Amino acid sequence: MGFSTDAIHAGQKPDEVTGAVITPIYQTSTYAQIELGKHKGYEYGRTQNFTRQAMESNIAALEKGKYAIAFSSGVAATHALMGLVKAGDHIVVSNNVYGGTYRLFELVMKDYGLKFSWVDTSDVKNITEAITPNTKMVYLESPTNPMLNLTDLSAAAKICKEYNLISIVDNTFMSPYFQNPLLMGCDIVLHSSTKYINGHSDVIGGIIVTSSEKIHDRLRYIQNSIGAIPSPFDCWLVLRSTKTLAVRMERHNQNAIQFADFLNNSGITKKVYYPGLVNHPQHELAKTQMRGFGGMISADFGNIELSKKILNNVKIFTLGESLGGVESLISHPASMTHASVPKDEREKMGLTDSLVRFSVGIEDIEDLISDIQRAIQ
Ligand SMILES: *Cc1c(COP(=O)(O)O)cnc(C)c1O
Repeated sequence: MGFSTDAIHAGQKPDEVTGAVITPIYQTSTYAQIELGKHKGYEYGRTQNFTRQAMESNIAALEKGKYAIAFSSGVAATHALMGLVKAGDHIVVSNNVYGGTYRLFELVMKDYGLKFSWVDTSDVKNITEAITPNTKMVYLESPTNPMLNLTDLSAAAKICKEYNLISIVDNTFMSPYFQNPLLMGCDIVLHSSTKYINGHSDVIGGIIVTSSEKIHDRLRYIQNSIGAIPSPFDCWLVLRSTKTLAVRMERHNQNAIQFADFLNNSGITKKVYYPGLVNHPQHELAKTQMRGFGGMISADFGNIELSKKILNNVKIFTLGESLGGVESLISHPASMTHASVPKDEREKMGLTDSLVRFSVGIEDIEDLISDIQRAIQ
């Protein structure tokens, strides 16, 4: 099936009792059992929930995987992946991942005896060089947040296969509509469904997709054991949202291409980071492994005062964390999403104090551009 058909139908069929076209919210903590030792496959709400299963099947289909396992947030999903390794194991990580991933690994998981190497995976040679006899996992984000660096996912997957490592890709920025890492040989895809997948800024959620039965079985066990599950209502909201994922992503992409062109030609930016720009160092790679460039753009205005002026005076863009919603957001990574990354580490990757990140929504592009022009004046 095509993406949009799957988005609307996968994992769902009309309700057997009433014919309701939309999967109901099974808001229940427990289920009546038929007799001792006999039940309908549903015992307890943490372990099984029909609304959650429908949402998981739907997203598994969109991400071209066999299984999906849902969590109460993106970071809960990342945390669950730590159940695939044990104390003493080593993990290679893209050096410019989501700030919360950095915080979880460096400031929480390190205390459990896990070791992390932070490398620039935009050159996959750096992955090979970081591998030690204890390496078990490679955790990638492509494109990265907020610098929009790409990793060659097929090349990275090949290295992981050679060294028998689990390869993980945080695919939040692209959504399953523009990039499918499993098709490039990666083992696991992770999404903060809070972002594009839900897309309406009203749910916090995370999801992991894989085609490996072994990885699925362990993560399903961890989902139930740790218990960081999403509520039935949140699952229902996500399931309703994926129906429009294709049309939303098309519009995010169209708007962002025009917005990046505007910033790039405006004469007010020092540098614009967007994989869709011909001057992006990995524009060619972007064209081969992604079907679009997404809605995220970062721009360095080279001058903190100008950046502040824009951040404080926009009216259609909302100053706030998060991304991927239908409404446009603007943020200051150095003091907001990436405040937990030390300043010298930030500057090394270009994440300066004058860097501004835009999540380009699906409003009218003319209004978004004039919002910036007005803010500057
Ligand atoms: C937001 C985000 C996360 C964390 O997800 P939450 O749902 O906020 O817990 C992980 N990775 C990326 C790329 C994100 O943008």
